[in-house]
Amino acid sequence: MTFASSLQPKIPRVGFISLGCPKATVDSERILTHLRAEGYLISSSYADSDLVVVNTCGFIDSAIAESLETIGEALAENGKVVVTGCLGAKGDIIRQIHPKVLAVTGPQATEEVMEAIHHHLPKPHDPYLDLVPPQGIRLTPKHYAYLKISEGCNHRCTFCIIPSMRGNLVSRPVGEVLQEAQNLADAGVKELLVISQDTSAYGVDIKYRTGFWQGRPVRTRITELAQVLGELGIWIRLHYVYPYPHVDELIPLMAEGRLLPYLDIPFQHANARILKSMKRPANSENVLARIKHWRAICPEITLRSTFIVGFPGETEQAFEELLAFLEQAQLDRVGAFTYSPVEGAAANALPDPIPPELQQERLARLMQLQEEISRERLAGKLGQTLRVLVDAVDENGAIGRSSADAPEIDGLVYIDSDLPLKAGDWVDVRITRTDTHDLWATLV
Ligand code: SF4
Repeated sequence: MTFASSLQPKIPRVGFISLGCPKATVDSERILTHLRAEGYLISSSYADSDLVVVNTCGFIDSAIAESLETIGEALAENGKVVVTGCLGAKGDIIRQIHPKVLAVTGPQATEEVMEAIHHHLPKPHDPYLDLVPPQGIRLTPKHYAYLKISEGCNHRCTFCIIPSMRGNLVSRPVGEVLQEAQNLADAGVKELLVISQDTSAYGVDIKYRTGFWQGRPVRTRITELAQVLGELGIWIRLHYVYPYPHVDELIPLMAEGRLLPYLDIPFQHANARILKSMKRPANSENVLARIKHWRAICPEITLRSTFIVGFPGETEQAFEELLAFLEQAQLDRVGAFTYSPVEGAAANALPDPIPPELQQERLARLMQLQEEISRERLAGKLGQTLRVLVDAVDENGAIGRSSADAPEIDGLVYIDSDLPLKAGDWVDVRITRTDTHDLWATLV
């Protein structure tokens, strides 16, 4: 057993007990390095510590016994104990014998240990020493923020070069993502926009490993992440959700009000041959059935999607299939683009490119149809009462967004109000007028 040492007053002090093999020692060194880098001090005794971390060994019975005994000693002498290491992988045993431990994580879990320490022994923010506030530096307004959950992508859509630029999917540790979300909520953020290249693939790269947040196990998987995000009491909006089957699991969370009933799910096309040459999931009938099912579970869901028109090989018939799909799908929001070759994209080698004039003509036809659909769907909101998040206030009133409107890309709600509203307020409004993209409303 080794107690790392160094003691100074006032700054939070962490005692650290490292048991087990050299691999555990390396884990301990990593955690200690993080602690020091963040300005925590490492204490040499239980009495001088504000919290104690025990890195356990669970290899053989005697090592398990020593670990459990050490946890008991730390609890008796100090009281605030975070457990990590191999025995932490058997969290039930530890919690049964020592129910008072603050958090239990497994081996190689530096981020999770740091999150537990941040939660139970936060380091006070020192504006003179700390360059970055707890919620980080953000470019968005104070009341909404983007939450990036992964980087890269495992798909190889033929029109896209993101995987060659950013590599395969790398998911952020779930505890780190949740702590960032909590910090943002604590800093006054009212809406989190969950983003990545492929949000529904979250955790695939690490086989949906169970991580920890505030001592609680959470799988690195979009449904489980969304469930916990939904407990923060703020708006959670999901973007760039690739249409995997397990996306269906998210819809009940929307119906329960944990997530905003909003799905940004790029379908790209509806014709099976074009989807195949894009290397996208190619079954539009299935997609239509799923949309019907989603709306049955969560009637207020807003569906946003993007489409590419004029992809190489898109015949008039394939394009009309796309129009027919849009008529049936009745999507709320659609972004459409003409295909343009990007250097390095596999689709550049495909035969039968579509001339630019024809691409533009098809884009105009698609947008005309979708505008009619969007206008009709918005008209259905007339007279409804909606909750709106205020984005800005000017001399004419306030401008906000409902659950159906993501910032920058969707519509706005213009609110007629004499009350002194401010950005970041949630208000309930009654819809009095609608057009193709936006709504007008009065306060209720
Ligand atoms: S379009 Fe999206 S899903 Fe396809 S390769 Fe690019 S980033 Fe991945």
